[in-house]
Amino acid sequence: MIGVTVLGSTGSVGENTLDVLARHADRFRLVAIAANRNAAKLARQIVEFRPAYAALADESAAQELRTLLGAEAGGTRLLAGAGALEELAVLPEATCVMAAVVGAAGLRSTLAAARAGKRLLVANKESLVMAGPLVIAAVNASGATLLPIDSEHNAIFQCLPPGVKPGVAPAGLRRVLLTASGGPFRDTPAEALAAVTPEAACAHPNWVMGRKISVDSATLMNKGLELIEACLLFGITPAQVQILVHPQSIVHSLVEYADGSVLAQLGAPDMRTPIAHALGWPERIDSGVQFLDLLQAGRLDFRPPDTERFPCLALAQAAARAGGLYPVVLNAANEVAVEAFLGRRLNFPGIAEVIEAVLERSTGGAIGGLEEVLAADADSRVRARERIVGMSRSAAVRGAHA
Ligand code: NDP
Repeated sequence: MIGVTVLGSTGSVGENTLDVLARHADRFRLVAIAANRNAAKLARQIVEFRPAYAALADESAAQELRTLLGAEAGGTRLLAGAGALEELAVLPEATCVMAAVVGAAGLRSTLAAARAGKRLLVANKESLVMAGPLVIAAVNASGATLLPIDSEHNAIFQCLPPGVKPGVAPAGLRRVLLTASGGPFRDTPAEALAAVTPEAACAHPNWVMGRKISVDSATLMNKGLELIEACLLFGITPAQVQILVHPQSIVHSLVEYADGSVLAQLGAPDMRTPIAHALGWPERIDSGVQFLDLLQAGRLDFRPPDTERFPCLALAQAAARAGGLYPVVLNAANEVAVEAFLGRRLNFPGIAEVIEAVLERSTGGAIGGLEEVLAADADSRVRARERIVGMSRSAAVRGAHA
């Protein structure tokens, strides 16, 4: 039995992971689950899966969880606080850790699992964008196994020769072709983007995902974060990554080799495929996913992304080229701006405006260690919030003068 810890179990990737694990109860044992504040959902998962440990980062939600469960907690030990996720990431009973927390909040637990030599399934792309070199160094030092869950990076991994080391490009790899659905506003005219709502941004045409990544897909920042993630995971430069808008989301990404071969991974757009791939690797296991019918799919289209309408992608490409702490700054400003958009304090084009303003004022710098990363993250969040307040003040002034 392989012991598994799922960090972010109440989220979209977390729930898909539990779904795959439940199909293989003879092979995997759920050791621990953790989330932020969704006590009701975590309580249901505890009752269904009876893990040895469960945690909520939010202390008051953890108290609510205790009340909800009462005697139902059974043999599950309940932990609380941000540090609890790091504790669960290194449990000796679990050799496999799914890092599926959203945002920078997942960084410490991802790093802890990497340092502890786990089989680390990384969905939490923000931790790689912020501190990819630190995560990869920890993986190589501890002998951990790093398996990407993002469908594009999982597709690329599947197209690489066996035995490649994280952060090292295999010989003969020429380029990576990263596909993007284009998001819900793929065909929306530029002038209509100022009026789009959070609900419309979260209604992704092909994937069912959490709210933050849904907005990132709508702005194409998701593809920008993935470009940075790909460079770190596969040891390539931003110039070696071509982004293709592929509205059907069937080709999950491709790898081009020096001999002209292009290898692709295809499948239905369902996160259970990369999750099952990484859980079973190097074996293949059932995922519960509907099999692909290419005749029904009919056609596969590809076109270039529009960085005029979606400037977030160009900002991420620039941050990727600049390297060092710039991706940290980009990520932090994006998280703050997306939260403001979801809270209706910023309009859709405002997301890119905030990120650009924060990047412009940043001096970058090298990633020394975790402290520098966390300092750049905190500083950029302050600047992004100031910028949003400034933008809403000037909008209010314009409104008053109108
Ligand atoms: P969701 O928003 O659906 O879920 C996020 C999870 O993280 C929840 O369990 C949430 O707990 C938990 N969480 C949030 N903040 C904290 C915190 N401070 N401490 C501890 N736990 C926290 O996100 P997704 O599942 O969509 O995405 C998760 C990650 O996977 C992201 O990095 C995303 O980019 C990546 N990803 C997602 C894909 C998808 O299809 N959804 C595809 C590829 C990558 P709670 O419910 O209590 O708030």
